[in-house]
Amino acid sequence: MKFLSAVVLSTLAASVSGFAPATPLNLPSTCRAHSPVSQLNMVAEDAKVVLVTGASRGLGAAIAKEIGSHGHKIVVNYAGSEAKALEVVEEIKKLGGDAIAVQADCSDLDSIKNMFKTIVDEFGSCDVLINNAGITKDGLVPRMKKEQWTSVIDTNLSGVFYTSQAFYNLNAKKKMSEGAGRIINISSIVGQIGQTGQANYSAAKAGVIGLAKSNAREFAARGVTVNVICPGFIKSDMTDELSEETAAYYLNQIPLRRMGTPEEVAGMARFLALDPAAGYITGHSFNVDGGIAIGQ
Ligand code: NAP
Repeated sequence: MKFLSAVVLSTLAASVSGFAPATPLNLPSTCRAHSPVSQLNMVAEDAKVVLVTGASRGLGAAIAKEIGSHGHKIVVNYAGSEAKALEVVEEIKKLGGDAIAVQADCSDLDSIKNMFKTIVDEFGSCDVLINNAGITKDGLVPRMKKEQWTSVIDTNLSGVFYTSQAFYNLNAKKKMSEGAGRIINISSIVGQIGQTGQANYSAAKAGVIGLAKSNAREFAARGVTVNVICPGFIKSDMTDELSEETAAYYLNQIPLRRMGTPEEVAGMARFLALDPAAGYITGHSFNVDGGIAIGQ
């Protein structure tokens, strides 16, 4: 397994009293490496530290920006897209939040441990974990290679276990109030209804739902809730890969007759991550899918 050590590319953290949205201050950046010119943002003392895995693009980037725009401190994790991750960091700062970009391979336990160490060093804590990083390596079962199977399971399922474990171990040391720590796993309708050519992906996404149910039971004692979002077909690099014919087929199956937007998934993520009303929700899955998986 490739090991990518966690490296902070842009680090900015300052806490002051008062409430978000934070006002940007004209202070010099404390970026350690490869960071564009940036300014320190000051956010509210009670701003949450939110780790979004795979936040350089697509759904993860939209979630990071949506939550960041509410004045929180976002950890923008990425695997290889450094420039895109830094763009997301800068956008969050413009929107009134604070952010750092941290490179880590979310299929690798050591890389994840290093990422959490970096988060604690830079922000002091981690209140919300959004397990969004994911890949596809599609193929029909008879021809699916072992690498296609293991890499998708490693990233989309084992990675979610490792990050959830690291997040819980960090927070279990302190007794939090109910719902103070929150984990949100980005699964998929494919984990509920299956998909031809995606045995690896559907197995991983179904696994993430089961994992969330077990973790919700186990982590409740320490005030950590665990929930799942199951997006349907959402516009992103991942779905841009679909052929016109396949996209047309799926559109026909969606009662609302359109693909969703990353912002629509981000709205659900913000609710589950931040809303006080979500503090009493744990172990459940919420579909953002235009109705395609009604009844599942
Ligand atoms: P995307 O546009 O392909 O972006 C994937 C993100 O995951 C990128 O930020 C990528 O980082 C990151 N990533 C991939 N492997 C990683 C690893 N090993 N470690 C850390 N980060 C990694 O995908 P998306 O469409 O936004 O999907 C995001 C999530 O939603 C996935 O879990 C996906 O399964 C799920 N989902 C998507 C749809 C949809 O219709 N788009 C529907 C249902 C569920 P780099 O940029 O650095 O490579």
